[in-house]
Amino acid sequence: MKLDKMTDGKQPDSSQLKADTQAALVATHPCFSKEGHQYARIHLPVAPACNIQCNYCNRKFDCSNETRPGVVSKLLSPAMAARRFVKVKQHVPETKVVGIAGPGDPLANPKATIASLKAIAAADPDVHLCISTNGLALIEHLDKLLEVGVKHLTITINCIDAEIGKNIYPWVYFNQQRLRGRAAAQALIDQQLLGLEAAINAGMLVKVNTVLIPGINDHHIESLAIELGRYGAFIHNIMPLISDPAHGTYFGLMGQREPSSEMLGAAREKAGQSMQQMTHCQQCRADAVGKLGQDIDINSLENVEPALPPHIRVAVASKSNLLVDQHFGYATEFQHYLITENSIQAEANFSWQQYCGGDEQCNDDKANRDLNQLAHFDLLLCSRIGLAPRQELEDLGLQVDTHYALRDISDALRQIQQQMQSEQSNQHHLLVANAANAGCGGKECS
Ligand code: SF4
Repeated sequence: MKLDKMTDGKQPDSSQLKADTQAALVATHPCFSKEGHQYARIHLPVAPACNIQCNYCNRKFDCSNETRPGVVSKLLSPAMAARRFVKVKQHVPETKVVGIAGPGDPLANPKATIASLKAIAAADPDVHLCISTNGLALIEHLDKLLEVGVKHLTITINCIDAEIGKNIYPWVYFNQQRLRGRAAAQALIDQQLLGLEAAINAGMLVKVNTVLIPGINDHHIESLAIELGRYGAFIHNIMPLISDPAHGTYFGLMGQREPSSEMLGAAREKAGQSMQQMTHCQQCRADAVGKLGQDIDINSLENVEPALPPHIRVAVASKSNLLVDQHFGYATEFQHYLITENSIQAEANFSWQQYCGGDEQCNDDKANRDLNQLAHFDLLLCSRIGLAPRQELEDLGLQVDTHYALRDISDALRQIQQQMQSEQSNQHHLLVANAANAGCGGKECS
């Protein structure tokens, strides 16, 4: 009845509803529209692994003075990512988009990616969740992404011809096999197109990134764009190859040339016949924060906030309340401690639904407990734990430690604090040494 009143007795027009939803998604995402530039985005670097190798990528290179995809200063666990988001949102309330864009592929790190997205959605249900992927594992994880609320998706598709692709991708890890040459490129392209179609059918707003590589895929851009248009991708972002030899990429070291701005303009014009073109992409780092073109230095943000010193959140499984003497599987609550360089603070115990009945069952990876609920801890101390939950917790970014079994909890916490103090002092020495040795002109050097 209510519906009739709202629509003057007519059935709601589903295509109009879809168009309105899409327009709202476009207008509030800085990468999908110029209107969206009033909003800020934060990339959370929680995904170190990648399931393919591209000849233009070298994730090992890191300089905080450099901006290009795949580069980060520090990897985050899901718990750290959620804390970073909350902090950034306090400083930049216009933050509307949370993206996971590497430094590897988000879907080659599905547990950390999904755990981070869930934690962010719980902290701010209005924020847009966004993923940037090579598409190889998209079909496999699409349902999870939809379930957690991802509506914006970027897939990097550089070609739809394996003869071209074999010059871009030296290997692809698919179905437990490392494929090379044409077979690698074909497997990737097939999965990308399947994922593209499924994501669009599921109502996601899909942007396709293409790296323009002179002599390799420049002659192919027009036919690629026609195909993307046929599938229904929303926007096409043709980005110039970055191949500075200093980055140590294969293309960089082999002297592969970058496209000129004329070449880029011509490619966009040709592709523009079939696909709406994006021209404002900044090729951001995988830990970029702020409005486009007005990136915030996350390190300075963290440094100016003494209220949030480096800390470790520890969960302890204990029967006696004095010793680390409980099997993870039996715990129905965890003692919760916050350790900083100067303090060890007890927080309220964390209630937990028992994972299993101990030893045998704890190795059964079918135990039906959502371990994501523990993702806000950094470290778990228990006397024993099965392989399956240990692996799953470590994938979520938690360190699991059974070395303190049957030891006094307060001794264990003090020892962890001492390790933390010595690591911080080593890191400080390392930073000073790196800055002295680098001669890179980067921010650390000044
Ligand atoms: S890399 Fe491009 S698409 Fe991604 S956040 Fe930066 S501007 Fe947006």
